[in-house]
Amino acid sequence: MYNRIYNFSAGPSMLPLSVLEKARDEMMNCRESGMSVMEMSHRSKVYDKIIKETESLFREVMSIPDNYKVLFLQGGASMQFANIPMNLLRTGKADYIVTGQFSGKAYKEAQKYGDIHLAATTKDENFTRIPRQDELDLRPDADYVHICFNNTIFGTKWDYIPDTGNVPLVADMSSCILSEPIDVTKFGLIYAGAQKNVAPAGLTIVIVREDLLREDLPAFVPTMCNYATMAANDSMYNTPPCYPIYVCGLVLEWIKGLGGLEAMYKINKAKADKLYACLEESKLFKNPNDVASRSMMNVTFRAESDEINDKFVKESAAAGFSNLKGHRSVGGMRASIYNAMPSEGVDALCEFIKKFEAENA
Ligand SMILES: *Cc1c(COP(=O)(O)O)cnc(C)c1O
Repeated sequence: MYNRIYNFSAGPSMLPLSVLEKARDEMMNCRESGMSVMEMSHRSKVYDKIIKETESLFREVMSIPDNYKVLFLQGGASMQFANIPMNLLRTGKADYIVTGQFSGKAYKEAQKYGDIHLAATTKDENFTRIPRQDELDLRPDADYVHICFNNTIFGTKWDYIPDTGNVPLVADMSSCILSEPIDVTKFGLIYAGAQKNVAPAGLTIVIVREDLLREDLPAFVPTMCNYATMAANDSMYNTPPCYPIYVCGLVLEWIKGLGGLEAMYKINKAKADKLYACLEESKLFKNPNDVASRSMMNVTFRAESDEINDKFVKESAAAGFSNLKGHRSVGGMRASIYNAMPSEGVDALCEFIKKFEAENA
């Protein structure tokens, strides 16, 4: 009824239709305030309730223990590439595992702040797999180990949580947060830009173990970048990204209504399995990645001929599937099938792939 199309964008991405409808219904007058959340003071009673409810829903849905802070920040995941070393370096040493473009950027940014060691990378294999535990060259005296849990551009995901001993594990979960249950206690810090699976752009989530926070950081660290300050002020040291936090609350309610992250995982797994099975049957298209390292959220595929890839992108767009063109550094196609992509969208894409193949093989 809205003429919506199947949007496979890697980010910002689809939001659940029922979330958009609820936001629309509350647009002019949210909770009897007589105004939109966009117009509301972040210090108002109504907004205070919204942000507190959103945080407690986040804790509930992700089973976040009490000794972790949940922060609602700005600056995107990219800002955290700097915030993490600024906040967590003590001895000055950190280990980074580079499995794609974003972890590469995080590794590069961290070098401004300390002795940053490349503990493993699969760059030589064009990032088609996640390194195994025995390939990780970890330093037991590092302040933390950084990984990117789901590699949005290359379509790979950690199929295990690396053992880092007593060294806290830090994970960029921008493109997989809320897609499946995660044992938060295995991590010192989890962060994510919201625009893939959580909310509109503008909000960044940081989940951090309390004992890793310290307010007396080196003087060069901006107050706005100090996690302890943000935590002490309940993410309200300054104006938070009010509207994305509100939509985040609606998305969490939607996930809870479906049955929480266990149910979300089953739905996501079924969608991804279906698409990978379709690609395995295909004579034209291939997914380049190791089976064990496949992402459930970003599925890449390509034909040998660039002419065919271009044709597929063009014809799929004309048929109502948008944003299937792969990242410019990889080429081919990428279907981002985050939480909000309905199963029917994946079914329709599989049908389209088969039809295209019949016409072009
Ligand atoms: C999108 C993405 C980023 C960049 O996020 P911004 O919010 O644009 O800074 C970083 N890491 C991963 C894994 C991503 O998918």
